[in-house]
Amino acid sequence: MPATILDGTRIAQEIRSEVAAEVKTMAAAGVRPGLAVVLVGHNPASEIYVRGKVKACQEVGLYSEQLTPPESATTAELLAVIEDLNRRDDIDGILVQLPLPAQVDAKKVLMAVDPAKDVDGFHPVNVGFLSTQRPGLVPCTPAGVLEILKRSNIPIAGREAVVVGRSDIVGKPAAMLLLNANATVTVCHSKTHDLPRVCRRADILVAAIGRAGMITRDFVKPGATVIDVGMNTVTDPAEFQRFFSGNSKREENFRKKGSTLIGDVHPEVAEIAGALTPVPGGVGPLTIAMLMFNTVKAAKMRRGSRVPELSRA
Ligand code: NDP
Repeated sequence: MPATILDGTRIAQEIRSEVAAEVKTMAAAGVRPGLAVVLVGHNPASEIYVRGKVKACQEVGLYSEQLTPPESATTAELLAVIEDLNRRDDIDGILVQLPLPAQVDAKKVLMAVDPAKDVDGFHPVNVGFLSTQRPGLVPCTPAGVLEILKRSNIPIAGREAVVVGRSDIVGKPAAMLLLNANATVTVCHSKTHDLPRVCRRADILVAAIGRAGMITRDFVKPGATVIDVGMNTVTDPAEFQRFFSGNSKREENFRKKGSTLIGDVHPEVAEIAGALTPVPGGVGPLTIAMLMFNTVKAAKMRRGSRVPELSRA
């Protein structure tokens, strides 16, 4: 039986509606949570991401502001921008769009963000809160992975979870969230021996690698839930055919655009997995929804009010 496709777009929409309702309640009490996005220079991909984030803010009723220092900005100049945002009471969330230009000390800039406004959840203070199960701001993409699992009623406690990838942005926090939800967690990386064997242990397999279609059917235990975080652009027609030959909808799209988005999971995994997130339309939409959620959460935490619950699981 083919895998159940876990519809990230629908789940993200559900979360956005919940956030919009919360924003409305806060507005009645005279509070409008605000997100500041710092976009340095003119990276076309970053500009698209930031546009998506600002639009999403508007849709849920959040205040948003975009700051656009020039490509030539120095570390000191960016630190001054962050300090100003840290001080402002109308700004609850600060997001520094990565990558930053080469001359900027990105770690120093990210460290300068007030942890209470760190809606990306990258600050070591929030990393520490997550690993010690204290309330804090959790990175958006891994938080979205957990929302997909919980809202799809996939049991986590006591299950074997394998995360492939150990980045600070995705792999490590995803592993920590699964551990906090009482899974037995294994984290894999490029030095892991016999990766397919380790992955086949998983009831829940999270792929956050950045390699198109690397997770093939021999990595997957029949019936497992597979969460594909990867976002890889394929432009080579031969590579496209290797993954999507016979998929007429994809073929038409590829002809039109000259590229297609593929995850880290090979499409053949749909024949063996129990449940699977698609790419696009899986984890991706959750990332922005969780950013909206984190902005509201930061606004509430800063004002000492009760933090909204998301997952009902
Ligand atoms: P990184 O490049 O920072 O990390 C990749 C991880 O994968 C590393 O830990 C690396 O191991 C591991 N890895 C690489 N090759 C192999 C291999 N052959 N076998 C086993 N492990 C391997 O990437 P990110 O974590 O930032 O992102 C991962 C993917 O998720 C990317 O495709 C990215 O585009 C996507 N992404 C999607 C988001 C969304 O909204 N859906 C948001 C963020 C990311 P090692 O540590 O040993 O080098």
